[in-house]
Amino acid sequence: MAGKPYACRRCGACCTGDGSVFLYPDDLPALAAHLGITLQTLIDRHTDYLILELPDGVNGWLYLPYLTLRKEAKERCVFLKGELCSVHAAKPAQCRETPFVEEFFSDDEWNAAVRRNCPGLRDTDPATLPKSAAPGAADRERRYLELLRENSYSLEKILGVTLPAPRILTHRELA
Ligand code: SF4
Ligand code: SF4
Repeated sequence: MAGKPYACRRCGACCTGDGSVFLYPDDLPALAAHLGITLQTLIDRHTDYLILELPDGVNGWLYLPYLTLRKEAKERCVFLKGELCSVHAAKPAQCRETPFVEEFFSDDEWNAAVRRNCPGLRDTDPATLPKSAAPGAADRERRYLELLRENSYSLEKILGVTLPAPRILTHRELA
């Protein structure tokens, strides 16, 4: 029915398929505590370590490290059980903000794909949708980049853990 405000249907569709959940340092302790495991175990069992090659805005490249939530068969998030998130109370910021992440507002293809896949959006009155990404999302990324700069771009140093060899995604693969 038209005219309803947005409500998540808890269908799990956004926890499956393309795309990754990027984890920030603030996400990790809560998730580890929720699972009753150490940060190192959380990272070893449930995350992937990536380095993204991104333009530095001048003439060169930045190599930025990120942890993402691991996926299982059929591209399902490791924490998706049935149609529900098994770590709902401690899920990462990106998950709390979905579907209204920055790309929803800045990338037409992304917006169209989300609208197709998200039943919560299908019968939502567009006037009730937010007009921009959650406050704090851009700030979180900015703070993360500052933290990386202050720590020689070492996630191991920031988190105090040991990381495996990263998967490097070049700018061509990211394009
Ligand atoms: S796809 Fe939409 S309705 Fe389904 S869980 Fe994700 S945000 Fe909620
Ligand atoms: S952590 Fe939960 S909400 Fe986030 S992608 Fe995984 S199952 Fe979905």
